Amino acid sequence: MKKNKGLLVVLSAPSGCGKDTILKSLLESTQTVKKSVSATTRAPREGEVNGVDYWFTPKEDFESAIGRGEFLEYATYCGEYYGTPRGPVGEWLEEGIDVVLKIEVQGGAQVKKLAPDCVTIFVLPPSLEELERRLRTRGTDSEEKIHERLQTAVKEMQCAGEYDYIVYNDTVEQAVRDILTVIAAEKLRFSRDPQVIERMLSHAETFCQ
Ligand code: 5GP
Repeated sequence: MKKNKGLLVVLSAPSGCGKDTILKSLLESTQTVKKSVSATTRAPREGEVNGVDYWFTPKEDFESAIGRGEFLEYATYCGEYYGTPRGPVGEWLEEGIDVVLKIEVQGGAQVKKLAPDCVTIFVLPPSLEELERRLRTRGTDSEEKIHERLQTAVKEMQCAGEYDYIVYNDTVEQAVRDILTVIAAEKLRFSRDPQVIERMLSHAETFCQ
């Protein structure tokens, strides 16, 4: 059996929509999916760990890394830089591991252009009201920041139609099941392994004699 390459999955959602919880649960439920750790210039939130949640990077270092072409994609979001280090993504994909990039929509568009065979999934919150409630209960951002994030969220949701799949975060369990379903179905696409029939039938003539 030929070992297929892993799937590159772009997972986008407005912040506060619960995608961190979904991703954590997704990673716990399978051994074959890994998350790329992004770099960002924003300050760590309470409980966030450098190298696990993000690589927290000073602005000058981030800009030098951009100059050296170290990012697969990068974008500014609410005044801060966020980027996917090229790092291990390519190696993991070669090893057959599926890699999730949890990134915002500008980055998502860059990745789709760079790797058209990636799968893009947009997670929608149950409602705008629920999204606002979640942003407030997080309690880490100022009123001004919450307002900015809500406005950005609405703008991001306007891009959801450019994604391959929409997943609703009504419950984390269902959202994770839906993402795993998308990954499983995408990996069965004929176009991902067009030689599959040829390989299976390579000895058909002698076999059928
Ligand atoms: P937060 O500050 O809430 O952790 O993230 C803000 C937004 O930046 C989220 O939509 C998140 O998915 C996105 N983001 C995180 N890492 C990256 C990255 O490496 N590249 C891009 N383009 N967006 C990212």
